[in-house]
Amino acid sequence: MDALDLDPGDYGGTYKLVGGRPSLDFVNTISWPETEREHDWLSSPENARRWFAAVALPFPRGKAVDLPALHKARLLLARVLRPLAHGEHIPANTIAELSRAVARAYQGRVIDPPSLAWHWPAPQNAADALAPILLDAAELVTAGDHERLRFCPSCDWLFEDHTRNGQRRWCDMADCGSRDKARRYYHRSKA
Ligand SMILES: [Zn+2]
Repeated sequence: MDALDLDPGDYGGTYKLVGGRPSLDFVNTISWPETEREHDWLSSPENARRWFAAVALPFPRGKAVDLPALHKARLLLARVLRPLAHGEHIPANTIAELSRAVARAYQGRVIDPPSLAWHWPAPQNAADALAPILLDAAELVTAGDHERLRFCPSCDWLFEDHTRNGQRRWCDMADCGSRDKARRYYHRSKA
């Protein structure tokens, strides 16, 4: 899997689209969450613009980017999707918060007259741009079966397992997968 072309600043790692759906990749724009290695990939307007382009979602034109709005929505999604992936309880007031955000997101959607399909008008601001991501999260949460929603046991990135046998364990074999292999080999050869 190729790394996305985001400016890492002085951070040594890379960002990859491992989630399989936009809401998970959005939450994953924080690497190593809640550890001392934590890194925020959406720390500049340019990175935000590149991320939205990479997941093929429209982003408002113009220089000003409301990064705090992106971060706030991301935190909310992390508070729902991370426990869901870990099989942990999600507080009812967090679900209520998601529900309100999703209701607002739906308001931006219109039925396109010629095609009679749902259509998103070009986003005017960060809230508009976030709408499809919030709806993706809502679909994921309400899908009923969360068997294929996983977290990487190494770095805690979230992903949906689309493999046929449902045995995907790592965010990326080339990163956490190979790190784990090396570690197991080390322990074996020491024993
Ligand atoms: Zn990982």
